[in-house]
Amino acid sequence: MHSTLPTVGFIGLGNMGSGMTRNLQAAGYPLVVNDIRQEAAAQLIAGGAVWANTPAEVAASSDLVITMLPTPRHVDIVVNGPEGLLAGMADGGTWIDMSTSIPEVAQGVRARHEDRNFHILDAPVSGMSVGASSGMLQIFVGGDADDVARLRPVFEAMGDPERILHVGPAGAGYAVKLMINQLWFSHLVATAEVLAVGVKAGVDLEVLRASLIASPANSNFVQNDVLSILDYGDYDEGFAIALACKDLGLSIDLARSVGVPIELSAVVEQIFRRAKAQYGDLAGEMSPVKLYEDLVGISLRREPQLEAAA
Ligand code: NAD
Repeated sequence: MHSTLPTVGFIGLGNMGSGMTRNLQAAGYPLVVNDIRQEAAAQLIAGGAVWANTPAEVAASSDLVITMLPTPRHVDIVVNGPEGLLAGMADGGTWIDMSTSIPEVAQGVRARHEDRNFHILDAPVSGMSVGASSGMLQIFVGGDADDVARLRPVFEAMGDPERILHVGPAGAGYAVKLMINQLWFSHLVATAEVLAVGVKAGVDLEVLRASLIASPANSNFVQNDVLSILDYGDYDEGFAIALACKDLGLSIDLARSVGVPIELSAVVEQIFRRAKAQYGDLAGEMSPVKLYEDLVGISLRREPQLEAAA
């Protein structure tokens, strides 16, 4: 049956892109896909997606193109490279960058191709690879209101409809996402310090955590996210620490560009870089917690809890 939905081009089928494309496919969107790792597309192709050899080819055979790439440098290559998506995109075409990145690449495209009337949105996401697989991502969209309204059904195929937010003009999505990560990473390091000190001082881990949850110092990290470590020793390899360091670096660059000193985030960044040096680029984003465990010679684990099953 011929689909009436627009054909979505998707470049970057990694931890996030693989789940997002599966959900687009499940929602009925015809897909044209590309990655430097062709094997990453096998399952999608089996489900009817079309492989394209270059980003230019993706753009030439799609109604809109989504990029989900590691860093601004990768986005720049995929967009502006000799076989990049601009080489294949028709005038008036739509490009949505869902990577955690910065506005410079899109600004350059607008400045150099003003006459081609591209529709460009930034729409980075939160919710980890689990959210990408389950189609429950939070999406923070920067761009023109008409474009956001037109593309909302595409976002809804990948995200939680309640948490797809139009946060402002082009670039605002990137800024919101970087600030979310900066705060979450700060919570992570602060929690690791508190748990290490409290346990070392002789307090039972679960008593300490329950006390924090009941207190004004509670946070989503203490209440929910740290449990993957406490219950499973899982530091979230679905988001590599190298990418977390990239995000912290971009946050600090953003703060510098708007003239705001952020001493705390600079320390948090260095702690993340220490964890990356110690455990490797592919270690999970929560590996800084392990630094504290190793430092004081404890393992932050709790007995399996009945509350989880309740
Ligand atoms: P990833 O490294 O798992 O995936 C990136 C994909 O891009 C890989 O498949 C890689 O082969 C592909 N790629 C790289 N260069 C390419 C090129 N030139 N052409 C085509 N494909 C290319 O990264 P990820 O974890 O999926 O993250 C993607 C983006 O989403 C990053 O900006 C990250 O910060 C952000 N993000 C990640 C998470 C998470 O939990 N993993 C959560 C929110 C946001």
